Amino acid sequence: MSGAGRYAPSPSGDLHLGNLRTALIAWLCARSTGRAFHLRVEDVDTARSSAAAAERQLADLAAIGLDWDGEVVWQSARSDAYEVALASLPTYECYCSRRDILDAARAPHAIPGSYPGTCRSLSESERASRRAELAAAGRVPHLRLAAGVTRWTVHDALAGVYEGDVDDMILRRGGNVGQAGDWAYNLAVVVDDAYQGIDQVVRGDDLLSSAPRQAYLAALLDLPPVEYVHVPLVLSATGARLAKRDGAVTLRDMPVEDVRAWLAASLGFPGLAPAAILEEWSLSALPGEPVVFQ
Ligand code: GLU
Repeated sequence: MSGAGRYAPSPSGDLHLGNLRTALIAWLCARSTGRAFHLRVEDVDTARSSAAAAERQLADLAAIGLDWDGEVVWQSARSDAYEVALASLPTYECYCSRRDILDAARAPHAIPGSYPGTCRSLSESERASRRAELAAAGRVPHLRLAAGVTRWTVHDALAGVYEGDVDDMILRRGGNVGQAGDWAYNLAVVVDDAYQGIDQVVRGDDLLSSAPRQAYLAALLDLPPVEYVHVPLVLSATGARLAKRDGAVTLRDMPVEDVRAWLAASLGFPGLAPAAILEEWSLSALPGEPVVFQ
């Protein structure tokens, strides 16, 4: 076996049909190319993650017929590795609240969704007073990357060459004094993909715009680049991204056989189990359009 693919859900609830379909595609892409397939529980968002949800997600992935290699990696156990990576990156403290960032983002020429760099050029005395203000409120600052570029280009197997914004992304969130802040998703993904030997990242195309940030971080950390495959999402009848509020869309409210049948049909292989789809699978067989669930 050479190389590896992965599925890396955030355990904030049950996997729905869209998540399960992406997991199945990731498994098919890995297995059909002789790669290992790994799972990772992305529980860096401590307020929204639960171990019980993670265990249900793993059980659901097995129930639809997926298997994986080696131990599941839990991001909550990976702080030491994130710490090492963080220490090698150029960073600065950020004292901004959500409100500050929203206000700054309204300024002319602001890139929507990107951090405008407000705290990057503060003087040492400004920093000391902002830090003291936060500390008085019981908070510690975020740590941001001092990015050296504003754009980065990746290659995606479906989207082709994709150039996107890179900003001074948060690497570690601020938190309460005396309590470690959450690690940022972008940093954790990059460190863990390298740790797990991942060279093929298959995930929903809502994350395509994050790929340039992650590829840039990987380059800064001297980690090998990955091949990206951002797959179309499953949409609800209203055209919005499928969500649990759309009704019976998880294995809690649909028989597993119905879920398996829907997944197979959505990939153009009605009636086939994952192992049988694998025999036929090639990425070019993947329908390019979002699938609508109704
Ligand atoms: N944990 C992310 C999610 O569930 C996916 C991250 C990734 O695949 O890179 O949306």
